[in-house]
Amino acid sequence: MIHFVGAGPGAVDLITVRGKKLIEEADVIIYAGSLVNPELLKYAGKDTEIYDSAKLTLDQVLGLMKAADDEKKNVVRLHTGDPSIYGAIREQMDYLDGEGIPYDTTPGVSSFCGAAAALNMEYTLPGISQSVIITRMEGRTPVPERESVEALSAHGATMVFFLSAGDIGRLVEKLISSGRHKDTPCALVYKATWDDEMKFVCTLDTLEKTALDYGINKTALIIVGETVAQTGYEKSRLYAPDFSTGYRKGQES
Ligand code: SAH
Repeated sequence: MIHFVGAGPGAVDLITVRGKKLIEEADVIIYAGSLVNPELLKYAGKDTEIYDSAKLTLDQVLGLMKAADDEKKNVVRLHTGDPSIYGAIREQMDYLDGEGIPYDTTPGVSSFCGAAAALNMEYTLPGISQSVIITRMEGRTPVPERESVEALSAHGATMVFFLSAGDIGRLVEKLISSGRHKDTPCALVYKATWDDEMKFVCTLDTLEKTALDYGINKTALIIVGETVAQTGYEKSRLYAPDFSTGYRKGQES
């Protein structure tokens, strides 16, 4: 059995209780060493075989899974954040389906949630934005044209950019050419929830310089939109005195 497990954004105590238990019970752990906190491996048993997938090709990872499953071993495939976001899990699952090897998934706290926590931020402020666009700028991996930075930015929603901190100048150009003002609030969060986390609230105008000044070009998220300022919103209707819900009868004014 292969267990895909979300390791969370960095802090060791942000893995789920279920994820921790699976690590404790694993015979083999294959972890994404580029981003998963190695401290999590201390939960593994002393005889557990541990492999860093950052040094392996897809075929090598699949080979390890197959060999372990042939020996009836329990495998944890530990992915950073939540496996469903840029986790490249489908290609692993399709192989496992082909081989008839069973698997399941344990979710994790994605880094976009870790970054919001670092900023004490609400992404969905009434009256400002009720949507979060999780995306990336195209790099070596292409992005469909209809999901270009310019096309998505036109919605005016809160945007969270993964995998884009290596070319912030180009990202800012695209956002400005799509009509975002240079004073648009944005945030840069490096290694959210890790001990060496850094977080900055700035504007599109100052974003690139902020990243340069602090040497940030990877393991960071860029959050763009009016919600980043965390002001000027409307209060939630759910808690308004005159609003009835299934749990509370609203007062008439
Ligand atoms: N599945 C992961 C994302 C993997 S893609 C998740 O749910 O978070 C890798 C990208 O995620 C990095 O390039 C960076 O943009 C972002 N990332 C991962 N961990 C991060 C962290 N702790 N702080 C900020 N960004 C992070």
